[in-house]
Amino acid sequence: MTQTVLPAAFGFLASAHSGGGPIPTAAFATRGRHTRLSERLHGQTVDAVLVHPGAGPCAAHATDGDVLVLFAGEIYNRDEIHGTVGSPASASDAELVSGLFEKYGPHAFRLVNGRYAALLVTGTRVLAATDHAGSVPLYVRPEPGHVLAATEVKVLAEAGAAEGGAPVPGPRRLRGLPGVHRVPAGTVLDVRVDTGEVTAHRTWVPPVHRLLMEEDEAVNSVRAALEKAVIRRLPGAGRPLVVLSGGIDSSAVAALSVGAATAGVDTLSMGTDVSNEFPQARVVADHLRSEHREITVGSEDLLALLPHTVHAAESVDPEVIEYLLPLTALYRRIDGPPRRVLTGYGADIPLGGMHREDRLPNLDTAVAFDMDTFDGLNEMSPVLSAVSGHWSTHPYWDREVLELLTSLEAGLKRRYGRDKWVLRAAMADLLPAETVTRPKLGVHEGSGTTASFSLLVRRAGAAEDEVAAVKARVVQRLFDLTVVGGVHPDAVVVEEVIGKILAEGGR
Ligand code: AMP
Ligand code: MG
Repeated sequence: MTQTVLPAAFGFLASAHSGGGPIPTAAFATRGRHTRLSERLHGQTVDAVLVHPGAGPCAAHATDGDVLVLFAGEIYNRDEIHGTVGSPASASDAELVSGLFEKYGPHAFRLVNGRYAALLVTGTRVLAATDHAGSVPLYVRPEPGHVLAATEVKVLAEAGAAEGGAPVPGPRRLRGLPGVHRVPAGTVLDVRVDTGEVTAHRTWVPPVHRLLMEEDEAVNSVRAALEKAVIRRLPGAGRPLVVLSGGIDSSAVAALSVGAATAGVDTLSMGTDVSNEFPQARVVADHLRSEHREITVGSEDLLALLPHTVHAAESVDPEVIEYLLPLTALYRRIDGPPRRVLTGYGADIPLGGMHREDRLPNLDTAVAFDMDTFDGLNEMSPVLSAVSGHWSTHPYWDREVLELLTSLEAGLKRRYGRDKWVLRAAMADLLPAETVTRPKLGVHEGSGTTASFSLLVRRAGAAEDEVAAVKARVVQRLFDLTVVGGVHPDAVVVEEVIGKILAEGGR
């Protein structure tokens, strides 16, 4: 199937109201053109700003009678949806959602496998929907008569505290932003604009059952599901870019891309002056004959991007920020026109790859826990790459791949003394043996990010046993400054933030 080269929009801001009501400034971190629209429906008026990569008109909205859809991101099961709603092949993703809604109502979102956030306005209701993984964050600020929604929460900070909002079930609150709520992963929030009342409906939950399978069947299923997910993420024309560490996860994505992309594949690796995985990535690139590039970032320059990472990811989790910091640096160095970037991100969560754990019950407990707690971390946020205009997509978190990997019994994940055994076996014929057997190395380890951040904190005077707590407070403070406070990340000096936190002492 052909995929548009880039999604019609990367993000949006919308204001739905029965009366007036100001719309905040569209202060997205996401880079792109802004298209404004204003639609008067029967029950309410919607003012919106879409942020998008294209130079032409923006196809990320659809109006059909009394239904308006705003859609950021992309759908991966377009063919199946065409089959059920009978839309023309040229229908946009927003039109497909509109067609599904006409047939299935709010359950429409249970049918979509995608990487998206959507807003559907009809009658006196606003439906705010996330994909199964919540991979495109979405935030709402409901008030009687006025609902604001945006794919970046910083955009809603300007609106101030919401007044008279009814209690919101399910969604998480945001640090420093009273009245603003994060739409949980795999959820539709149904907001009544007249009263501000909110109901939550789940559209996806992580599987908790486990499948017993013969080795061959498991290996073949994983290969087929991952291959399909990669193919669905390749550009209709042009070359995909795979960010490659040389670990099994990203090497598998690169190998499957090479098999399917007719125009060839580019691969890119980053390292720092402290550490890199260049030789391991080079082995894979040589084997696959990809057009390969290495980028070295100085660790001082890397750490200076901490505010930018927090600003883009809008996460207060210090570990997540450490994983995302090197990728932020990498994406910022991809110059030229907007690219479609495939990653190996997230494979470890359903496969338990980062738990160096031999005991199967413990491994499965860890997988179940991680699948229950990923939401709200914003690890997969497209904003990380969209700040430099690029669209990232993560095949392991395709809905079908994720369901399969999660539900395989733990003995297929840990087998013959190897972690992620089923994935390694599934890729054995496409990759060098040394890649297939290479042990896990996290991006924060391979790039020396964790070590560099710790060193910075220690040099500022933190004792060894304070390092983790200080890092957590640095990340919180960066969130308060750049996301809540609207300070541009370029204007934040990390050393000063650390110095202030240490001067304040143990609060
Ligand atoms: P990891 O923490 O190693 O699982 O990394 C997650 C994903 O980030 C990988 O699957 C790659 O797509 C990407 N990645 C990690 N390290 C690098 C690197 N050094 N250079 C380029 N991409 C990387
Ligand atoms: Mg790695």
